[in-house]
Amino acid sequence: MDHFIPLSVPNFEGQEVNYVTKAVGEGWVSTGGAYITELEEKMAAFLKVEKAVAVQSGTAALHLALIESGVGPGDAVFVPTLTFIAAVNPVKYQFAHPIFVDADDSLCMDPAKLKKYCEEECEVRDGVLFTKQGNYPVKAIVVVHVFGNMADMESIMEIAETYHLRVIEDATEALGTKYETGKYAGKYAGTIGDFGAYSYNGNKIITTGGGGMLVARNTEEAKHMAYLSTQAKDDPHFYIHDEVGYNYRMTNVQAAIGVAQMEELEEFIERKQRNFERYRKHFEGEPNMKLLPYRKGTSSNSWFYALCIEMDRLSINPRQLVEGLSQKQIGSRLIWGLISEQKPYQNDLRTDVSTAKEYAGKVLNIPCSTNLTEEEIDYVAATVKAMVKEATV
Ligand SMILES: *Cc1c(COP(=O)(O)O)cnc(C)c1O
Repeated sequence: MDHFIPLSVPNFEGQEVNYVTKAVGEGWVSTGGAYITELEEKMAAFLKVEKAVAVQSGTAALHLALIESGVGPGDAVFVPTLTFIAAVNPVKYQFAHPIFVDADDSLCMDPAKLKKYCEEECEVRDGVLFTKQGNYPVKAIVVVHVFGNMADMESIMEIAETYHLRVIEDATEALGTKYETGKYAGKYAGTIGDFGAYSYNGNKIITTGGGGMLVARNTEEAKHMAYLSTQAKDDPHFYIHDEVGYNYRMTNVQAAIGVAQMEELEEFIERKQRNFERYRKHFEGEPNMKLLPYRKGTSSNSWFYALCIEMDRLSINPRQLVEGLSQKQIGSRLIWGLISEQKPYQNDLRTDVSTAKEYAGKVLNIPCSTNLTEEEIDYVAATVKAMVKEATV
């Protein structure tokens, strides 16, 4: 290969530069402007919700959702351990306690282990779920749709209803993922629980450089979060603030890029799905590796591809595999380590996390940009297969 194939790069094939030029030219560069409203309206229409709120990042969206859920100091929140740490940090911003939940074979939160923890490690008093250890009131669940794969929302929503927990969907990796069958047929990831957080970071399916979007099942709550995101300004002319607010609003320059990217979203999803299918055929039946499928009954945005490799059968370790691929001009990356093992989180509560730990040592992400060519996909698949074969002991 005569050039490097990156893991994931943004794609600006549309009106990005034109819209940014217009925003700058008109002087609307900050947290007000027509592109912000337009992006919110485009997202709301796409997701089939009443209102979407444009914010500075996916992390800011998650933080606002926790605040709106009433999560405060001393409360507890269920979170996944196998995901990007941004899904969990906002729990600590609120001085609340994360309770780490294991993953299942979808790499998303395992509802069976969540349920078991509620039944065995918690007790209900006056309709509120308390942890036995620490006696923390449990307020919410943060569920992540890992790599664009829908979590088992039917099971998770049932558990949430039983124990009166609010559900915050981290759909930062799953914009465009939806149910096709079942109770939530037609529903997009992020629009099933109480809140949905999206990210437009550089490696997500569409990007604004950095930015995010927030939706809520209850439109009044969405409006309140928009208010909190703009320093909780009660009055357009006088400095009246009845609550502590945040500087979490998206800028018009970011939104200009976002509007252009929204125009390309459907096309990007189609390409990601097509590329996944091409990889899938390449890896089908291959020994010691498996391209993990997306959930049955859903249509995934196919954002990232998770190649599960039986590393313990190889003479090389995962790091050597990534380095070897890099030498062959292929960008790849290992799945995250468990958050429950990171320094700030080592002492927090958790379920048994054995499945997450197993996958953490096995899953490799391979190039998935929307501008990948068929030749590049064929080269990546052939190279990975050859390297694994050679290292098999
Ligand atoms: C990217 C990401 C976030 C954070 O989004 P930002 O816009 O970067 O703040 C949160 N959770 C997960 C799972 C992510 O992948």
